[in-house]
Amino acid sequence: MAEINSNYKKLAAGYLFPEIARRTREFQEKNPEMILKKLGIGNTTEALTPAVVSGLIKGVNNLADPATYSGYGDEQGNTNLRQALSDYYSSKGIALSRSDFFISDGAKPDSSNIQSIFSSDSIVAVQDPAYPVYVDSNVITGRAGNYSVEKGEYDGLVYMQCTEENGFFPELPKNKVDLIYLCSPNNPTGAVATHEQLKKFVDYAKENKAVIIFDAAYSEYISDKDLPRSIFEIEGAKECALEINSLSKFAGFTGVRLGWTVVPEELVVEGTEPGEIRNLWNRRQSTFFNGASNIVQEGAMTVFSEAGLKESRELVNFYMENAKIIMNGVKDLGITAYGGVNAPYVWIKTPEGTSSWDFFDKLLSETGVIGTPGSGFGPGGEGFFRLSAFGHREDIEAAMESIKENLKL
Ligand SMILES: *Cc1c(COP(=O)(O)O)cnc(C)c1O
Repeated sequence: MAEINSNYKKLAAGYLFPEIARRTREFQEKNPEMILKKLGIGNTTEALTPAVVSGLIKGVNNLADPATYSGYGDEQGNTNLRQALSDYYSSKGIALSRSDFFISDGAKPDSSNIQSIFSSDSIVAVQDPAYPVYVDSNVITGRAGNYSVEKGEYDGLVYMQCTEENGFFPELPKNKVDLIYLCSPNNPTGAVATHEQLKKFVDYAKENKAVIIFDAAYSEYISDKDLPRSIFEIEGAKECALEINSLSKFAGFTGVRLGWTVVPEELVVEGTEPGEIRNLWNRRQSTFFNGASNIVQEGAMTVFSEAGLKESRELVNFYMENAKIIMNGVKDLGITAYGGVNAPYVWIKTPEGTSSWDFFDKLLSETGVIGTPGSGFGPGGEGFFRLSAFGHREDIEAAMESIKENLKL
């Protein structure tokens, strides 16, 4: 008798984005004349850059010619692309060999799949609020107990509070944990961890033989020269951390799909030799995954060319200009807001203790602007609201105009 994996039943109902879609649809049906302005989901909107497009076309042309045709690629991904990644890290002063890189179809799949190589009784710590994938993937695997609607938390998971007081970067866990998810620049708060903050976690991880799973999806959004763009800028991190990243937010690959995970040879946990975890991830990927598209990998390679890097950074600057417009707009209204400087998210404190969902409804009905309720990212997000800087310029400007004119504070 087949039965479903009952852990799926534990997942908290009303996943964030479907609930936003439902409320938006309902509102639009009742108010068909209202033009909606979407600053909700973190989805890129601008066209791929010329260098990337030429790379993708080259990828297609390679397949059109029997002399350059290729089928399944190298297990860990295109060797030249892994070399380009190794060079890219090297340009930031980080030495990693191309064997440490695993090419994938994105950072979300990697950040949900990576937990599968660790023991199922590992104790998991997440930032609160956090990108929902870290929690949900561990719930599905059975590392969490039941969800408490009252607390907004799963039993058995360790929630590391990210608050105004600590600058939205958590203190070390008080008890011993095994897997620690860190995301910097952070989605949703827009906070970026400093060297000192990351060093504390690296030291903790080494002391407690824990592993840090570092999500660097927004690393290219950091403009402040003093802030770390990779966990591997921190001394000792290679022994206790792995890093996940993608071209989604850097080069507009949200629909194209290309990511990577760095598993350094040096990474060890209880009872393993150097290289063993890296081999395990290779075993997992070669069993469950058959590689990223070769066309896309060709396109990805051009991102790391001189022209590709320049164009992609211009794309990032475009979104960061949007962030500035949003930040200035909300601050002019006297709203307290964080992030938006080294990350494409503005994290608003809802006025006078309005709940995140009440603010969602208020903003939608008064201004037609759709954002994301902070509480959807964990209990620590209650009382906050995320505005995304991904959007066409005219849409961002229209949204801010409408907020200025119509929001009743
Ligand atoms: C957008 C995002 C990703 C990227 O996921 P992809 O699968 O590469 O598109 C990863 N982590 C966080 C925190 C994100 O916001």
